[in-house]
Amino acid sequence: MGVEQDCAVPARADWVVGSYETKCIMWNVNADTGRRYRLYPTEEQAQRLASWGQTCRWLYNTALEQRQFAWQQRKRTLGATAQCVSLTEARKELDWVADLPAQSGQQVLRHLDQAYRNWWDPQHPAGPPTRKRKSARLSVPFPGQAIAVRRVNRRWGVVSLPKIGEVKFRWSRPLGGVVRNAVVSFDGVAWHVGFGVHAGVTAPEAHARPGTVVGVDRGVKVALAMSDGRMWNRTFSSPGQERELARLKSAAGRQETARRNCGAKTSNRAQKIRAEIARTEAKIRNRRRDFLAWAANRLCIQHATVKLEGLHVKAMTATAKGTIAEPGINVAAKAGLNRAILDKGWGIFEAALANRARTTGTRIVKVPAAYTSQRCSRCGHTDRNNRESQARFRCGSCGYQANADVNAAINVRDAAEAPSPLTGRAVRDRSRKASCRPPTQRRRRTALETGISRP
Ligand SMILES: [Zn+2]
Repeated sequence: MGVEQDCAVPARADWVVGSYETKCIMWNVNADTGRRYRLYPTEEQAQRLASWGQTCRWLYNTALEQRQFAWQQRKRTLGATAQCVSLTEARKELDWVADLPAQSGQQVLRHLDQAYRNWWDPQHPAGPPTRKRKSARLSVPFPGQAIAVRRVNRRWGVVSLPKIGEVKFRWSRPLGGVVRNAVVSFDGVAWHVGFGVHAGVTAPEAHARPGTVVGVDRGVKVALAMSDGRMWNRTFSSPGQERELARLKSAAGRQETARRNCGAKTSNRAQKIRAEIARTEAKIRNRRRDFLAWAANRLCIQHATVKLEGLHVKAMTATAKGTIAEPGINVAAKAGLNRAILDKGWGIFEAALANRARTTGTRIVKVPAAYTSQRCSRCGHTDRNNRESQARFRCGSCGYQANADVNAAINVRDAAEAPSPLTGRAVRDRSRKASCRPPTQRRRRTALETGISRP
């Protein structure tokens, strides 16, 4: 009884607080952190959630098309508010759209609004919003007002969702704040519910261990090498899993070719194989995320400053395919390296570090990546022959020997901060073609170009 009372964390802000003034303040706060729990819907609930997930994807894509059409044809920018009116009309005519809770539909439109705002924000790395594919993760968003969370006992909680009622979830960690919104999703293995929580956590003024600096070298053989000699690595998939995945993917490819040739619908067998692929990939992805979050957590707790080589992971893992006119060289080798880089999750690691650093007060510093693996960390002699093999480093000038990755990590630790780190659009535009620029920029540019070319 006591436990139930203490731990019950209602989702609705007006349940948490008594006084009117506090309530007004609470309604205005945004989620600043996320909490994800394994959800255990019944068979019926799972089926309905899955169909809602498909409806959400359809709604997102349709709304995106509507916005693109309005811009191309009439140079008008549609927003979520205007599109909510169209959604209300669609709900009257289509039963399957009406089945989706109205608030979820509105939330999808708000997400699309946010996707556009991110694209227009010069500081944000996001590109233009794209269509959600059928193979994408199923997810159904709910605003905080539409749901309620209750703890049942030490292990279980329930979340009340509109139209479905209470769904059990495993209470694996404290909520630690007021729930502002929720997303129910299926990643191929299991259902999850993610709560956007306002925890009110702010970064401490100073790190608990001031003055501690570590350099980190991200590698393909060893995922993370630290300047103090530690090396962390983990394999995320077993050889059997790799074989199985290759078999399934080739079967899926064959089925897809056959389907295209006769123009039929995707067969049940093909759908089963796709689900099996998604399941295996999700398992691998979860292991990778776990490792990187673990590593980021340790580094942020132990060090006031974490230094990384500034890598453009996206540009580094671009394909070497080239064009038909100018085919690339060593395409297969580059594809293998790309796969290895993506497999180690360099990009995810950066995000995990930034996320954890918010609560520990750790400073994440990017340094120029050039020559960190060829320079001797003791005398500064830089030569590609210094690196004897993948793992061994032996300086040709002073004879210093070390693990090559650790030597690189020491160089990263001692390097000066990159002068002006490129962020947002600056990074984006380096690797993007002109056709993908935001509409306003593209219009200005075309007018300018035509003005120059036509005297
Ligand atoms: Zn040396």
